[in-house]
Amino acid sequence: LTAAENGLETSTFTVCARIRPKLKQDEGDEDFVCVVPGEHGRAARCLVPRVSITGRPKLDEARSELDWTWGPNADEDNIFDAVGRPLVHRALDGQVGVIFAYGQTGSGKTHTMSNLMERVVGELFKSGAAANVMRHRKISFSYCEILGSDANDCLSPSHDAVKIGEMLDGRVVLKNLSEHEVEDAAQMHALVKKAAATRSTESTARNDTSSRSHGIGIVTVAPPEGCALAGKLYVIDLAGSERAADSKDHDQQRLEETKAINISLMALKECIRARTKASRPGAARSVHIPYRRAKLTQVMKDVFDVASPRLCATVVLACVAPTARDVDHSKNTLSYAAPLK
Ligand code: ADP
Ligand code: MG
Repeated sequence: LTAAENGLETSTFTVCARIRPKLKQDEGDEDFVCVVPGEHGRAARCLVPRVSITGRPKLDEARSELDWTWGPNADEDNIFDAVGRPLVHRALDGQVGVIFAYGQTGSGKTHTMSNLMERVVGELFKSGAAANVMRHRKISFSYCEILGSDANDCLSPSHDAVKIGEMLDGRVVLKNLSEHEVEDAAQMHALVKKAAATRSTESTARNDTSSRSHGIGIVTVAPPEGCALAGKLYVIDLAGSERAADSKDHDQQRLEETKAINISLMALKECIRARTKASRPGAARSVHIPYRRAKLTQVMKDVFDVASPRLCATVVLACVAPTARDVDHSKNTLSYAAPLK
């Protein structure tokens, strides 16, 4: 029996938003805060546009609760304390966790995720409880980047192409994605830095691919012998969501990439929704989860594996800019994220 059949919720969802501070380049632009933080960042409300029959979004027609929102003065410690640390402990406990940043280019996704990753590393190797666990478990790190229809290993010297295969039992194998075992925080910090550097170097060389690629950090906590399931934590810096709506690309390759981003972000949303449905107590045994629609969702198939006895926690971090110029993108971001709950 799966956990769902046993009447247990097998997954939890946390949906949050972060409004980045105003930057130098925003000067002269009006503020437009479309997320209203609640007390202590909790139970915040965000303004989500409801698309009316005429197709025009109206800003304050609908309100939707988010679990957390962080305003421009919050830092990554606030975010990590609320939603990051629990995911690390789940991974150490053999469960699956994913945190992803969704939002337009320039909304702070990379800034947020790279700072959170540093804290993840710190927590994994913190002395105390974790150290005990570590004696029996091996931690490894991989980093995969998805651009258009390509997946690449950011930790291999030649940025090797990653092939995604599936075993007969449904497990996804990432061929050519190097897995690096780490023994301490320093080793892991070095790998995280290397992945970020590879991503940004490639990005400069290929005309800001970072806004068009998904960056997927994968932490695996190998279980003690005799226990089959590894704990996993996916830390995902998604491609800029404005691409999904932007059909102004004339370049053929860009157009293909835009299409791929669109498909992958929609697949992500649908997989999350299907997983939520499937994990409710008493849910039907066979819920179709369309993870094969995109490489992004294939790579993180663990997250959608309803049949797995492992618990899974998902954290959606909607990143928005504080400025009026970006309000349409901010609305789109929030209307993608808020209904995922
Ligand atoms: P994205 O990855 O969504 O395109 P970035 O993370 O690159 O956005 O952020 C865009 C710019 O804003 C960068 O220069 C980044 O350093 C800055 N920035 C983003 N979030 C913050 C923040 N919380 N505090 C300070 N600077 C930030
Ligand atoms: Mg970025």
